[in-house]
Amino acid sequence: ARGVLVPCPSCGQTNRLAYDRLGLSTRCGKCHVDLPAPDRPVDVSRSADFDALVRASRVPVLVDFWAAWCGPCRMVAPEMERVAAAHAGEWLVAKVDTEAVPDLAARLQIQSIPTMAVFRNGVLADRTSGAMPAAQIAAFVQNALRS
Ligand code: ZN
Repeated sequence: ARGVLVPCPSCGQTNRLAYDRLGLSTRCGKCHVDLPAPDRPVDVSRSADFDALVRASRVPVLVDFWAAWCGPCRMVAPEMERVAAAHAGEWLVAKVDTEAVPDLAARLQIQSIPTMAVFRNGVLADRTSGAMPAAQIAAFVQNALRS
């Protein structure tokens, strides 16, 4: 059941993209047109799914660690949506509710939220904390991927 749901722009069919298909071109299972890359943040609610996603994705994954009670996280949410839309196909944006996966938050030593982290080939490239606008988030990711 792991994967990212992508609606077909042509026929409306919801397609499930397996994590290891992220970054590859794929076609709609129903009408066979090329599917666009995911352009919205993907919610990850199990740590096993998180591990599978960051390992399998062929594009870097930007992860937003958040919680419902966190005010700055709510400010970051629309900024992450902008980043996901602007960089579709380049990076995948994932959101992890730290309350839902406390084991993962502990393992990654998430001490303050929002924390944004960039994973490439399953390895942490860089991380940062605190609310910031989309342009600054994008610059953080680009910088993380250069190093
Ligand atoms: Zn279709």
